[in-house]
Amino acid sequence: MRILLVEDDSLLGSGLLSGLQNDGNSVDWVKKGTDALSAITTTPYDAVILDIGLPEMSGLEVLSSARSKGVTTPVLILTAQDAVSDRVTGLDTGADDYLTKPFELDELFARLRALTRRSRGLSSQLIQHKNIIIDPSAHSVTLDNQNVELSRREFSLLIELVSSAGRVLSRSFLEEKLYSWGNEIESNTIEVYIHHLRKKFGSELIKTIRGVGYTVPKE
Ligand code: CA
Repeated sequence: MRILLVEDDSLLGSGLLSGLQNDGNSVDWVKKGTDALSAITTTPYDAVILDIGLPEMSGLEVLSSARSKGVTTPVLILTAQDAVSDRVTGLDTGADDYLTKPFELDELFARLRALTRRSRGLSSQLIQHKNIIIDPSAHSVTLDNQNVELSRREFSLLIELVSSAGRVLSRSFLEEKLYSWGNEIESNTIEVYIHHLRKKFGSELIKTIRGVGYTVPKE
């Protein structure tokens, strides 16, 4: 998943950054509300982790402004222990979930998985496409009930394509989903991963739509 982390506390922020990266996510970290707002409105994140207590522009202002601009990205807010009114206002302003500091990383991961599952319209934890079953929480994939070994990027790419089956995803969209800022991307990177996925799941899984992008046909 590509995640935007908004947290002005350096210690907590760097802990969350490495935790989220170790869990297999691409993460952009910003400390200011204004940076958060411009990132949210220009990048297709799977989820945003938004601290409420930020200097200058608060997390609630970021959230309200993003929602008024039509941004539908799932947002999980981080609030202080005693700030009940922040949680209420946050949910009323368009937050999808909240966590109270301090929290366990495992709980954050579980809530993020639940959020993105809901935003993809999936009720089950598993993503299934024909004979492929993906378990995002276990980072595992099976083909005809046999485990398939995938790299982190291959895994992310497969989830993107399969959960959007029937739709065409452009190469630039997929690049944005797989890479955070500052990652160097070779121009043929996505093609290379698509090639790997076809080798592992069969060439008919992913269709190239010339000049447009890639799709996993529904039928
Ligand atoms: Ca803070």
